[in-house]
Amino acid sequence: MQDASPWSRRGFLRQSASCAAHVGLMSALAPVWAKGLRASQEQYPVVSREPWGRIERIAEGIWALVSDPMQDRTTLCNGGIIAGRSGVVLIEAFGSEAGFEWMASEARRLAGRSPTHVVVTHYHGDHTAGLGAVADLGAEVLATPVTRDLTRGNNQVPNPILNLATPLDTIRPTEIDLGDRSLIIVPRRGHTDSDVTIEVTDPTVVFCGDLVWNEMFPNYVDATPSRLTQAVTLMRASAAQTYVPGHGPLADIVALDRYLDLLRHVESAARDAIERGFTSEEAGEEYRLPPAMRDWTLFSDVYFARAIGAWMKELGRP
Ligand SMILES: [Zn+2]
Repeated sequence: MQDASPWSRRGFLRQSASCAAHVGLMSALAPVWAKGLRASQEQYPVVSREPWGRIERIAEGIWALVSDPMQDRTTLCNGGIIAGRSGVVLIEAFGSEAGFEWMASEARRLAGRSPTHVVVTHYHGDHTAGLGAVADLGAEVLATPVTRDLTRGNNQVPNPILNLATPLDTIRPTEIDLGDRSLIIVPRRGHTDSDVTIEVTDPTVVFCGDLVWNEMFPNYVDATPSRLTQAVTLMRASAAQTYVPGHGPLADIVALDRYLDLLRHVESAARDAIERGFTSEEAGEEYRLPPAMRDWTLFSDVYFARAIGAWMKELGRP
């Protein structure tokens, strides 16, 4: 019986397949398959709960938003708040200005002051659409030059907020000193040509952007798959207590290993497709998630073919 496979959701998911690829998450997430997030996935105390997501308190001064895009698209992506004596860092600008404003107000409520810094992990719309609301905040925005140049609003013009952003070094990590705590912004790539992770110690928490997805199949639309696997392997080496994925519930090292298994599973499906002379579409039709991941969310029914196609392109068989 294949009914439990993601293909049973095909009717609803087809809607989102036609949208602009990298903002696929922003469109047409009709709540037909509305399993959404579950309380059983909560790792830490929940300090805020809304239709679009919940905020979990990971440690003193460290909170993560776990968005629930199957229910409500206000925030769309995951993100976080890191507070220290001299500042508050907001991670991501989220899927709408309302989402950003809500998260900024949660920072004020939880950390006692407005965000002083906003870091966006990459240029996709579900992480940057709220940037228009940043101007009201007076916070320093940090983004890589690639993120600045490739972030686009609805009218396809460069984002004026990011033109004023502090450009992040894409070779070396950048430190933000918050007085009693520091965090580092680590340049990486794999999900796009320019991703960053935001990492803090004691406890070690890695805000992964879309380099990591948990219980949701990743979008390879702009991915360089071998780089993606390398980046996640490096992030695994820090053996963090918590990995905050770009989408899906909070992950521990076991969940990260399972995700790495998935990345390798996709790679072997692509190599197999090349050997058999399949197109990425044919291979995507045939692809099935490993048994332990059969209940993962699939945002679009093109995601399998897209992932396999990204590998085929990298391996020289577009
Ligand atoms: Zn995303």
